[in-house]
Amino acid sequence: MAIRLLDPATIGQIAAGEVIERPASVVKELVENALDAGARRIAVRVRGGGLEEVEVADDGAGIAAAEVATALLRHATSKLPDAGGLTAVSTLGFRGEGLASIAAVARTTIASRVAGDEIATAVEAFGEDIGLPYPAPGPLGTRVVVRDLFANVPARREYLRAPGAEFTRIAQWLATMALAYPEVGFTLEHDGRRVFAFAPDGDPAPRLRHSFGTPASTMLRVRGASERITVEGWISAPGDDRPDRRAQILFVNGRLLRSTLLSGAWTGAYHTFAMSGRHPYGVLLVNVAPGEVDPNVHPTKSDVRLRFGERVNAVVRDAMGTALRAAAAARLERAISFAPPSNLAGGSAEPVAVALIDAPATSQNLRVLAQVDRTFILATDGEAVVLIDQHAAHERVVYEELMTNVERAAPGEPLLVPYTFEVRPDQQRALDESRAALEASGLVVEPFGERAYRIVATPAHTTHAGRTRAFDIAEFLDGLDDDGPALDARHAVWASLACHSVARAGDPLVYAEMVTLLERLQRCTNPMHCPHGRPTIVRLEPDAIARLFKRI
Ligand code: ADP
Ligand code: MG
Repeated sequence: MAIRLLDPATIGQIAAGEVIERPASVVKELVENALDAGARRIAVRVRGGGLEEVEVADDGAGIAAAEVATALLRHATSKLPDAGGLTAVSTLGFRGEGLASIAAVARTTIASRVAGDEIATAVEAFGEDIGLPYPAPGPLGTRVVVRDLFANVPARREYLRAPGAEFTRIAQWLATMALAYPEVGFTLEHDGRRVFAFAPDGDPAPRLRHSFGTPASTMLRVRGASERITVEGWISAPGDDRPDRRAQILFVNGRLLRSTLLSGAWTGAYHTFAMSGRHPYGVLLVNVAPGEVDPNVHPTKSDVRLRFGERVNAVVRDAMGTALRAAAAARLERAISFAPPSNLAGGSAEPVAVALIDAPATSQNLRVLAQVDRTFILATDGEAVVLIDQHAAHERVVYEELMTNVERAAPGEPLLVPYTFEVRPDQQRALDESRAALEASGLVVEPFGERAYRIVATPAHTTHAGRTRAFDIAEFLDGLDDDGPALDARHAVWASLACHSVARAGDPLVYAEMVTLLERLQRCTNPMHCPHGRPTIVRLEPDAIARLFKRI
């Protein structure tokens, strides 16, 4: 499509703002143009943090000789068809401001050549001046060189950081973009030094490794779709998390956005996998129909309006959840394989404080050996030492059973004799707020006088197999606040209910109870973590043991 000036009506609708704030903004505008031009290789060379010079060369479609000078005019673009075009933008650029804004504040040279032309056409521009086009040697595609950024607006330079810091922004941004365009090759050079080179081979692994510092093989693949929304990506394994959300990267239709748009989906998907206060990381590539996203709400387009934000959130959360559960199941399989119950049920019901239990070993069978410190279950599969946190494991088991009750809307089991109790005023509020969630899981609590309540039914299936504590309602109410920030309100109630109805650290367990607990844990969809995200199982590999004995 030809480059032409936007009509005044469209210009009026454009979210105006300062496009070029720093060297990284120059790189962003130029690289986005190269991507819009269908480039397969993009080479970025930077000097002096980008203040001295930025050069971006691509092998994209190029600009026709007669239009190279036009491209530098403000509001000149080839990317919007007509005045209605702003409602369905599928390119990264669309305002026709990028090149004009760069040339306004830096000495800019653009050279471009389209297929069929013998030679490239170059134009130089700076400030108000746009030079005459002249023929120049050059390959197919476009090369833009930008020198002396803010030479004519020294005040703007004051706000910049040292060249090293400005370069870091460029490098991080470009490496992040590369995550969303694995078919495009990206190279980056600073002061003559190669910083990275990603081949245009569609393999995201080197890019994931570069951006996140973890091998791609340890990250989980996410894929999901629902009508008109698709998501794919790579996310961190549970337990491998960060102190902040900065490494939660989101692209919608190829556009890098502030991830806060979908932070609810991250929290929702990981809520029982991650430690509270820590954050998972990864990159999500969401695609929706162009008409469903409005990128024209922010000058740098880092924010968009999603028409069906809630649905997108749900699709992304479910896709992440599926990946997490599959990974948890695979990890458990690797950590532990269970013998058939007949093999394990041989233990007596005598307490086994620190006695070793002699059961036939195969490398695949998990054998419970002992309870340690009335807190941990010591076991082995013949290859490694396996330690289970009895409370965390039991919490996970009961939590999932409660969740099953909730999903099936299973009614509680009525108590023959309702249990009556009184609460303090502060507990009363917590109880009133959580009664609906409790009832959904089968624990039915009714008001019974001014500050008195009675429990008339308890959750089904949660009272047998393994030790179940008498549910301590007072502790439950006092504990509710602790889970507040990490879990949404209903999950906090269920997690707390699970926590306060199971074996604690310090409770003696007999052999059969330990075996039953591990069997039930094996049936969980997310057996490796308790509802608060702490690990339930730790495996001590022979390597680690050998190190303890200074064998290696
Ligand atoms: P926008 O990207 O919003 O259209 P720009 O000022 O960044 O505005 O670019 C103006 C026009 O110049 C583009 O619409 C495109 O036609 C052309 N252009 C700019 N950079 C390139 C490039 N690297 N390859 C091909 N065409 C380009
Ligand atoms: Mg542009």
